[in-house]
Amino acid sequence: MRRIVVVSNRVMELRKAAQAGGVAVAVADLLRARSGLWFGWNGKVVDEQTSTDVPEIKGLKSQGRSAIVTLPLTENEHRDYYLGYSNSVLWPVFHNRLDLARFDAGFYPRYMGVNERFARALRPLIQPDDIIWVHDYHLIPLASELRRLGVDNPIGFYLHIPVPPSQTFLAIPEHRELARELAAYDLIGLQTQADVANLIQFLEDSVSGRILQDGRISAFDHPLSIKRFPVGIDPDVFHNAVPDDTLVQSIEGAERIIGVDRLDYSKGLPQKFSAFGRFLEKYPQYQRKVVLSQIAPPTRESVEAYTDIRQTLEQMSGKINGMFGELDWVPIHYIHRSAPRDKLRDVYRSSRIGLFTPLRDGMNLVSKEYVASQDPEDPGVPILSRFAGAAEQLVDALIVNPYNVEEMADAIKTALEMDRSERIERYTRLMDVIRTYDSAAWSSAFLSTLEATARERTVSNVGSHAIRASMAKLASVARRPTRIPPEGSRSAQDGTSKQRKRHAGNGE
Ligand code: UDP
Repeated sequence: MRRIVVVSNRVMELRKAAQAGGVAVAVADLLRARSGLWFGWNGKVVDEQTSTDVPEIKGLKSQGRSAIVTLPLTENEHRDYYLGYSNSVLWPVFHNRLDLARFDAGFYPRYMGVNERFARALRPLIQPDDIIWVHDYHLIPLASELRRLGVDNPIGFYLHIPVPPSQTFLAIPEHRELARELAAYDLIGLQTQADVANLIQFLEDSVSGRILQDGRISAFDHPLSIKRFPVGIDPDVFHNAVPDDTLVQSIEGAERIIGVDRLDYSKGLPQKFSAFGRFLEKYPQYQRKVVLSQIAPPTRESVEAYTDIRQTLEQMSGKINGMFGELDWVPIHYIHRSAPRDKLRDVYRSSRIGLFTPLRDGMNLVSKEYVASQDPEDPGVPILSRFAGAAEQLVDALIVNPYNVEEMADAIKTALEMDRSERIERYTRLMDVIRTYDSAAWSSAFLSTLEATARERTVSNVGSHAIRASMAKLASVARRPTRIPPEGSRSAQDGTSKQRKRHAGNGE
């Protein structure tokens, strides 16, 4: 079995990773099962003088053949690469928030710089037979940087966040550079079919990508597969949940609605609070009968766009609690701290409704965790935004439009009144999906597809020579200086190829 090299922005010890969400848990599981390296930022920010290009290498205690390899970021890199281009340009644009994107702040050169530095530090550690799996929007350029250093191993990329519609993606001034960087991968994995369609459209619009006979996309003469691999959870971690009613207030028999979202503008928290307020107003018979427990841990507080959310939510919950609350009943229980996952599991189990209503979300793992924690004999009901990636899979949740406060208020009532047999039927179908597409299935599907890419190369003799030639072309055609040419000079190449026929075989 080939060794796996996982690269992600943030790397942590496996022990800690097991407590963290999504990517870290999946990587930790993967590296326990097979030998490999996990490479990335160690979370430390140092001044320029203390910075080093020599990575720290630690063996994984439980797995002698694996190691974690990390570098610190400098203060400037942290500001421009992490808080800047990653979280103030790519994150807002990919979540359809062009209004929050800081295009003019000059973050891009340092975003490229960190990717270049990571590639240089990683290069000597790569062995000829390795397969390389890069994660998330911080590291889009990593493959093209590795290719420039002569790496021709199979390299896959998984994007955990959504892909915006092409017209939105095209608003990023560096969109053609990003397209070139994406084209350097062999395989791109995305959360949903809609994301696959958006990315193909973007490559067509941005750099005249072409769909090949075999369903792959050709951009800069390099064939690229783009497929859907929806991220899953490990349902076994959740199904032994023990109901934890400690959050429920003194009123006997009150039902809990649970929400768990990082305090991010993409999570639709103000709309959720409005919907809950509207529900209490429209259906007063439920006053004193329900509590919304919203866990909203802080996140990226030094990014400008995040500063107002906390205040907005405190005001909104204060207003709703003031308007409807009583001495023994506070309608919104709002907790601005994170909770450990085993605690969350028990709270999910004792909640009649899970309210997951992001305005945009790559997947939304908490909705899957909520379902997996339910009592099969008396399950609660998930209410899920149609704009969460999970909605493509969890079709038996109550699917709502998170911009429609009235519809969400009505869905809360429907969920509270749903009879047990319907809840069990929905739960059973939801669990089938969650079990089939669990986290182990996700990583093994991605890796086996990437390995198949490697085999195809051998068979079709698309070996290192051909790849280097195509990469050299890619670099010479599209590598732009970090200063961006005027808009007019770009538009000539922003060919629209919408009339080109889509191949039914692309994606999955
Ligand atoms: N999580 C947690 N404690 C909290 C809030 C969240 O452990 O207080 C975990 C949660 O269980 C889930 C992950 O963080 O595994 C969040 O993933 P999701 O896809 O829902 O959202 P993201 O934060 O990745 O946008």
